Amino acid sequence: EKYQEGMAKTRNTFSGKINDLIARYRKVDEDFFEELEEVLITADVGVSTVMDLVEELKMEVKRQKIKDSSEIKDVISEKLVEIYYGEEDKSIQHLQLDGEGLQVILVVGVNGVGKTTSIGKLAHQLKAGGKNVILAAGDTFRAGAIEQLEVWGERADVPVIKHSEGSDPAAVIYDGIKAAKSREADVLICDTAGRLQNKVNLMNELAKVKRVIEREIPGAPHEVLLVLDATTGQNALTQARTFSEATDVTGIVLTKLDGTAKGGIVLAIRNELQIPVKFVGLGEGIDDLQQFDADAFVYGLFS
Ligand code: GDP
Repeated sequence: EKYQEGMAKTRNTFSGKINDLIARYRKVDEDFFEELEEVLITADVGVSTVMDLVEELKMEVKRQKIKDSSEIKDVISEKLVEIYYGEEDKSIQHLQLDGEGLQVILVVGVNGVGKTTSIGKLAHQLKAGGKNVILAAGDTFRAGAIEQLEVWGERADVPVIKHSEGSDPAAVIYDGIKAAKSREADVLICDTAGRLQNKVNLMNELAKVKRVIEREIPGAPHEVLLVLDATTGQNALTQARTFSEATDVTGIVLTKLDGTAKGGIVLAIRNELQIPVKFVGLGEGIDDLQQFDADAFVYGLFS
């Protein structure tokens, strides 16, 4: 229900436009496809994703001999889901934290996207699922970042390992690992700095943090989650490209989906970057983080 509520803006805009299109065009022809492209691009689905989709749709329309536009909704949903998953196993969209021993999640992203909030929500969710969670305050750069993470730590009722502002993030993460091991935690979630003014420094810092994690726990980090703000549209895609060049991103947390009608960005991210969206943020509250489900998302668009 939360999901439907959070997706309302995208759904209402999108389904409204599609229904309008279908009402105006009885026949599925070139003009119909042209307008459909426009609707999808306006929803931030991404130009190359839209091109792929429309190409597939045209073939499917021929194959199934679809003439009437009212029949095309189901075909669009099917194809969108197909494009979303590609050849991948559907299980890819969930967190992979089932291994032995301490599981480490590294969380990266630019300031303001909702990184701290998402860490708090995720800690809460994992804890509710019976996991013993610890947070490491690796954003030692932004003023107030440590305190903000502590606030979320209190809300989620999980401990936060911290140093003072300006200290070495890799040292904080190292201490986080030590604390997590000695307290036999199940999951350590590591925050990182998100200043993009100095891209090279930021990427070097991330690499150093990652090396510490890899050295201390073989096989870790088990997840590298990149937090992106859905309301920034194509900018989010640019950020995703930058971060995935610097580190192996295993999943996206797409925040503020409740604040945009352009939820199509989910599909663009998956299709253009081959990174699964694992969670979506649908509000500012601690319960407003949902595991992303492409089927529910796409079918929701047409409901
Ligand atoms: P950070 O700088 O990346 O750590 O960003 P914050 O976690 O401080 O979040 C920035 C702002 O975005 C805060 O006001 C959050 O409440 C808000 N925010 C984060 N996630 C969501 C979301 O999913 N939906 C909405 N509406 N707001 C969000």
